[in-house]
Amino acid sequence: MKKLIAGNWKMNGSLAANEKLIKEILAGLGQAACQIAVGVPSVYLAQCQGLLAGSAVDLGSQDISAHEGGAYTGEIAGAMLKEFGVRYAIVGHSERRQYHGETDEVVATKAQRALGCGITPIVCVGETLAEREAGRTEEVVKRQLAAVIHTNGHCISEIVVAYEPVWAIGTGKTASPEQAQQVHAVLRAQLKAASAHADRIQLLYGGSMNAANAASLLAQPDIDGGLIGGAALKAQDFLTIIA
Ligand code: PEP
Repeated sequence: MKKLIAGNWKMNGSLAANEKLIKEILAGLGQAACQIAVGVPSVYLAQCQGLLAGSAVDLGSQDISAHEGGAYTGEIAGAMLKEFGVRYAIVGHSERRQYHGETDEVVATKAQRALGCGITPIVCVGETLAEREAGRTEEVVKRQLAAVIHTNGHCISEIVVAYEPVWAIGTGKTASPEQAQQVHAVLRAQLKAASAHADRIQLLYGGSMNAANAASLLAQPDIDGGLIGGAALKAQDFLTIIA
């Protein structure tokens, strides 16, 4: 299976900064062996669609509405994202769960909406530090993934899953390759029990992945790529992870 390296720009960027970053990434890319995507702020989707046209880098959104359309002020529907060439939608990022109250059920519905529009959801799961210290890591990630499996049934083989320990996001603290692999193996087993095609589901690791630690994380048998925050904002770092 090809690996997927996906950037999550979060609420960063500007017209000028996006153009510079994308041009630098494309100039340094060469023949990449993996799949590549960038998750950009929604207002910049049109700009980035133009900049990425014809390239090997796919466009992603950082969220998608749980609704199909209508009276949902501020929301963006999957069909709208699709019009701008969006291939991936990050759903259930811990920042959305934490600051926007997204429940496991909402996240599962968002994944369903994405799949219904031909967009691949990158479903994020992960435990907080308190949950890890209480020995609840497996229970938490399995509960989060179970909701997505329950809502999406056999379509589950079309999703991407990102294991992102909350304590590792933006903190500079990375899960060790062994810690990450341990959780990935649990998630893989859960997916295998739900789908005969679980082997083709890409399981990404996210949480302070950078140019220095990416190789050892990506060498783990059940780590099929990375969801990259901070390091995706620096062309050279993102290119090193891709390489
Ligand atoms: C993320 O936002 O998904 C993420 C992993 O961020 P960072 O790489 O900055 O920890």
